[in-house]
Amino acid sequence: MTVRGAGCGVRGAWRRVPGAVLGTLLAAIATMSLHAAEPSRPAFDSSRAWEYLRQLVAIGPRPAGSPAIQQARDYIKKELASAGVSLAEQTWEDAGTPIGRVRFTNLIATIPGARKDRIVIAGHYDTKLFREFRFVGADDGGSSAAFLMEIAHALKARKSAFTYELLFLDGEEAFNPEWAGTDNTYGSRHYVAAAQRDGSLATLKALILVDMIGDRDLRIKREGNSTPWLTDVIWATAKREKLDAYFVPDTTTIEDDHIPFLRAGVPAVDIIDLEYPPWHTAQDTLDKVSARSLQAVGDVVLASLPAIEARLGKASR
Ligand SMILES: [Zn+2]
Repeated sequence: MTVRGAGCGVRGAWRRVPGAVLGTLLAAIATMSLHAAEPSRPAFDSSRAWEYLRQLVAIGPRPAGSPAIQQARDYIKKELASAGVSLAEQTWEDAGTPIGRVRFTNLIATIPGARKDRIVIAGHYDTKLFREFRFVGADDGGSSAAFLMEIAHALKARKSAFTYELLFLDGEEAFNPEWAGTDNTYGSRHYVAAAQRDGSLATLKALILVDMIGDRDLRIKREGNSTPWLTDVIWATAKREKLDAYFVPDTTTIEDDHIPFLRAGVPAVDIIDLEYPPWHTAQDTLDKVSARSLQAVGDVVLASLPAIEARLGKASR
């Protein structure tokens, strides 16, 4: 993918710039890169995210209830522990799935901030069950889980006004071939129902959901069910960060793990690129995804947080 075609035009313009002006411009560019490296902005390390993704994919297919997803959980828990991030498990059983009784587990990592109010960053870590071929879900299930594991490091290093919760959702995928009824979003539905029951929903102020963000040819459209102001903040940030080749202005409408949160009144945005030819095929493998795409989403999400916090802070006053 060509990220910015404007690059050619810029190169052409240099030839007409006199030396003195060139020096000033170079100094300005140096200042800009210093600004980008300011210590208050924690970094997303896509090479570490890539290693997480590689290890998850190496486990093989990871459908809900399988021994392999238990292996994935153990791996996520071990890595978050070494990052110094505490993690809780939310486990339950559902006897009414199309394949019978299934035991699910959401993983909930908490990074405390100045206040108890939470911003949840979520993604699913299960892969869709296919018996007829080997489905390792490098993008679908792998990219979101690896993203959450890496952003834990950045948030741990950040002084945050809000508490951040990284929510690894189980059972996003339908067991049946088709997505219908309650045979999907098992983890998000369970999480929201439990939060409504125990009252913890009151401190849940916003949800940022990531799903299928690793496509080598990443092109994320605005998602039509998502809360408009939250979507606006993220897309405006992408433009400011010159990453708008990844966050495009078109809109699409997708049912995903954000729906139960929206129904419960939580502002939510789904960052997803569903236009991925290997989607739900044996070809959803490591060679179809890239660290660069994870980096773009990591940079935009982290750069969006101050504006999201400011908006939420104002709303609660
Ligand atoms: Zn899927």
